Order: sequence, then C-alpha cells, then structure tokens
Amino acid sequence: MGKIILTGDRPTGRLHVGHYVGSLKRRVELQNSGNFDEIFIMIADAQALTDNADNPEKVRQNIIEVALDYLSCGLDPSKSTLFIQSQIPELCELSFYYMNLVTVSRLQRNPTVKSEIQMRNFEASIPVGFFTYPISQAADITAFKATTVPVGEDQLPMLEQTKEIVRKFNSVYGDTLLEPEILLPDNAACLRLPGTDGKAKMSKSLGNCIYLSETEDELKKKIMSMYTDPDHIRVEDPGKIEGNTVFTYLDAFCKEEHFERYLKDYKNLDELKAHYKRGGLGDVKVKRFLNAVLQEELEPIRNRRKEWEKDIPAVYEILKAGSEKARAVAAKTLDEVKAAMKINYFDDMEMIREQAERYKK
Ligand code: ATP
Ligand code: MG
Repeated sequence: MGKIILTGDRPTGRLHVGHYVGSLKRRVELQNSGNFDEIFIMIADAQALTDNADNPEKVRQNIIEVALDYLSCGLDPSKSTLFIQSQIPELCELSFYYMNLVTVSRLQRNPTVKSEIQMRNFEASIPVGFFTYPISQAADITAFKATTVPVGEDQLPMLEQTKEIVRKFNSVYGDTLLEPEILLPDNAACLRLPGTDGKAKMSKSLGNCIYLSETEDELKKKIMSMYTDPDHIRVEDPGKIEGNTVFTYLDAFCKEEHFERYLKDYKNLDELKAHYKRGGLGDVKVKRFLNAVLQEELEPIRNRRKEWEKDIPAVYEILKAGSEKARAVAAKTLDEVKAAMKINYFDDMEMIREQAERYKK
C-alpha cells in the first residue's frame, strides 16, 4: 500500500501564518522527505462557495493567491499535484452517495461546523451545502485514497466524520475505501494559531491574520500592534504569558539560534518568558524580536512569490495539469465505489445475461 497525502485550503483569501504552521510547512517537509508516493494539494473552491455563494468573484480571485502562496512556500509541482476542487466533478458524485450514510443529527454535532455557523451568523439560515461540507470533505479525502491528512486542529472532527463514512461504506458495500490518518502539528502553539487580536483562531474570515505575502513594513506594523497582556501596562509590571499572542507566536516560530542572532541577552525562550513574568521587560522589545524572527522566516517566501507573480499563466497551467491528473485518480475511485454499490449496470454483463435467461424461460 502506498502512502498518499491529501490536504488543501479554501480560496477565501491569501494564506496566513496560521496555515503555514498548521499545515503548509509540514506539507513541504513531507513532500521533500520522499516518503510519500503521491501528494495531492487541493484548492477547495467548491467548499469556499458553500458559505460564499453570493460572492463567486472572491473565490475566483483567490485561487491564484492560494496557488502563489503554495509555490512560494516550496510546494513543487513536479513532486505534488496541485489542483482545483470544482474541476473534479467525481467529488460531487461521491458526496451524493456518502450523504446516505450520515444522519442530520451527526452533522449537527460537529463542533467545528457549530462554531463556524456562529462566526458567520448562519444560525437562522444555514445553507445546506455548508452544513454538509464535512461529507464533501470525506469525498475529497477518500477519492484519492489518502492515508495521511496534514491539517490544523480544527479539522479533527472532519477526519472523524470521514473515518465513520469509510467504516459505514465498507461495512455496507464491502471493502472499498481507506481510513485516513490525521497529521497534526507537533508543536502545541501551531495546532490553532490565534489571531493578532488574541482571538482563538487566526482566520481569513476574521480579519486577524498575518499573511505570508505581507511586505516587510506591513508585517512589522501588524506585529507592533499585536494583542499582548492587557494588564502589562508599565515595563516593570509582571506580565502574563498565557493568552499572550506575541509569546504564542514565539512558541510557534522561534528557535534557540534566533536568540544568538537577534537577542543575545537571553539564551532561550524560557529565559525571556521568565523575565517577562517577573516584570522589567517591555512589550516593544519582545515584539521587535518576534518581528526579526518572522521577517527571517517570511523573506524567502515573499521573494519566491515575486518570481511566480511574473508568470501567472504558468501557474494556471500547473493547476490545469494537476486537475487533469487528479480527475483521473478520482474517476477510478468513483468506478470502484459504483461497482461496490452495484450501480454499474452497463459493466455488469453477468447480471444482464442472468436477467436475459430469466426472461427467456
Ligand atoms: P476560512 O476562514 O475561510 O475558513 P481559514 O483561515 O480557516 O479560512 P482554511 O482554508 O479553512 O483556512 O484552512 C486550511 C488549513 O489551514 C486547514 O488545514 C486548517 O486546519 C489550517 N488552519 C487554518 N487556520 C489555522 C490556524 N489559525 N492555526 C493552525 N492551522 C490553521
Ligand atoms: Mg476554515
């Protein structure tokens, strides 16, 4: 059995550092590890439309943004298949059949969907497509027979839902689909990176993001106005680390070597945290350090992006070739699914012969 990755992002905006630490950075490492037979990276435009039905232009314009972010982070089209969800109609067909295997009450229990409904003020009128997107995600994952899905923590309920659908499908129709494993970030701060406003999740829809394509100045400005400890007013005040976004970002990005380069007074993050907690360390100094760390991480990404931006048609060619390849794989799975469900009438010569015999008598 080969090892296969499927993961992706919604084209609802440029990608941010939450995506980067939650999934994107890991994908590039996995891609370059050579341990995977196939890597499918999907721009989930159909899913983005489930809560942006009245704004197709937003989704359309952000496909190129997400693709540019992929390429600038180091996803390599010669090693990973980059494709657009809506170009694979087989995924809709799979979703349609999986819908019969899931109850409404099961969907209602999905904690991520619950909080997203709240965030979007959908309580009174949830689009059916949005409500059922965990099923469509199961179609995406199983269509490629993915063994491994590298994502952030908010995707745990989707993977659980997928596994349930796989088990149910296989028990009703016979072994056909594969149960995927979720691959979460090792670093706790990366599971669900908070927004610059201190809110629980950095999210395109909340406008609290640091984008990968941020210019040097924009990045600095965002970091200098980040949420810290609201009770840490004077430098000499003792400060809190928990819920202090600047420290959460340092947990996510900073390595010991950064102290050597940018903040020689401290050996490591523990020392810096201890000083902040004692009092006597100002927010500005910590933010300047974070800025140095993030600038170092994002500069090569920003530069590679500028190169790809010069050849937009080539990026669309990559997506087109990737979509064609992905479609062939999904079509093969769909054939297997239909055969298992016995809705492959024209391929089933035995059934046709048997019925012919029966009517002859
Ligand atoms: P939207 O607000 O449109 O849902 P989003 O910012 O939540 O956008 P998605 O495209 O839904 O981004 O998520 C893509 C991937 O990035 C998923 O694997 C998700 O788990 C991960 N991810 C998103 N936000 C974060 C975050 N703040 N921290 C860690 N991982 C994240
Ligand atoms: Mg999301």
